[in-house]
Amino acid sequence: MELFDKSKIEKEIEELPSGILTILLEAALSTNINSISIVGGVVRDLIAKSKNQDYDIIFNDLDLIIEGEPSKFIEELQNIIGPERVKVTRNNSNYKTSEIMINGIRIDIATARKETYPIPGENPIVESSTIKNDLIRRDFNINAMAIDLKDNRLIDLFSGLDAIENMKIDFLHESSVLDDPTRIIRASRYSAKLDFNLSIQAIRQIEDTINAWPWKWHIGDNTDLAPSALSIRLRMELELLFKGKYWKNALKNLQNWGGLKIVDSQLQNDQKLIEKILIAKKSKIEPLTALVYESKNPIYLAKRLHLSKQQIEIIEGAYRLKIYLEDVIANHIYKNWPPSKWTIFLEKINANESSFILEICKESPLKEYLKSWLYKWKYIESPIKGEDLIAKGWKPGPEIGIEIKRLRMKLIDEEIIL
Ligand code: ATP
Repeated sequence: MELFDKSKIEKEIEELPSGILTILLEAALSTNINSISIVGGVVRDLIAKSKNQDYDIIFNDLDLIIEGEPSKFIEELQNIIGPERVKVTRNNSNYKTSEIMINGIRIDIATARKETYPIPGENPIVESSTIKNDLIRRDFNINAMAIDLKDNRLIDLFSGLDAIENMKIDFLHESSVLDDPTRIIRASRYSAKLDFNLSIQAIRQIEDTINAWPWKWHIGDNTDLAPSALSIRLRMELELLFKGKYWKNALKNLQNWGGLKIVDSQLQNDQKLIEKILIAKKSKIEPLTALVYESKNPIYLAKRLHLSKQQIEIIEGAYRLKIYLEDVIANHIYKNWPPSKWTIFLEKINANESSFILEICKESPLKEYLKSWLYKWKYIESPIKGEDLIAKGWKPGPEIGIEIKRLRMKLIDEEIIL
């Protein structure tokens, strides 16, 4: 098909320098590499663009699969176009993957591999194999195609071309979610980004797999023992989801499919989740931090997903604040509190500003007080400084601090009356 001619691909993807695909093929042929193919998003996007001229191809990198060793292939590329034009930016000889830069274009080169999942949800066992097996290990019909650079032919084992035509995403087999549950998050992202539907059988696979919970580890168990696909990779996929401007639809998809249960049941049922994340985002809180805070047990989930130290601190601070506020509500003691009392109380908790915002987003019944402190009282300073008091004859010592604090609190109470 003309669509897969090298010159046509280079025309469609403006970032690709003219002739680069022929050079890549030449390097493969002279190192006895049997097969070299373009895979992944580029293939999907080229086809989507051919069906809909308005489709925007966002080029990140060129993913190549070869049946052979990346190192020899790269050496040959350097022989052909000169070593200075081929920069090796990453090389993993164990996984047989490399990343190179040519004219500012990132090219990922990997040996074709077969993957098997001996334990569901754990990392797969990987062995070198053929391009066919490399496509079989992939996530969806729309992502499991390759363009063979030898004969400009599309390899399409799972009717990906039709899937793009019908705008319907499907897993490649019945155990796809069992093997790698992060595919649920990926499905929601592609579905939102491309405006494609997920097939009914794929949605059923998500529901059935989560309901049966076939993994050894359960939510509530020690977070350190959770398989990586259920924790670190889950977090990475959630981060990717929030990077796109379509994240709201992706989250809606997850809730509609029952897919958020893989993260937390409360998130699955929260009808105001998107709204709350939006408010937090406007206040410069990372959406993933806001999402985790809305879960049933935020500190546990933050640790389970291996969030950063800073994210965990924000969540812990918000949680501490929540517990203090619950106590205040239960004892009905706050009704007659002047602003100064609120200020003393909230400053003692010593939580991050972002922690306050999280509690405000969570619709705390005392959110008006939190807002007043965060945006007003916090910034009110004592009208008189320590040196002023000393100039007036005060002796240096703790009394000065107490007096400054008293004056600040007085001003805070007066401000509210004004
Ligand atoms: P885009 O960058 O536009 O999202 P992409 O498809 O190239 O598109 P990547 O996340 O870089 O996105 O993934 C590259 C390819 O690797 C995918 O197209 C898919 O075939 C495969 N892949 C990635 N993650 C998984 C996974 N969890 N399970 C199976 N295959 C995967």
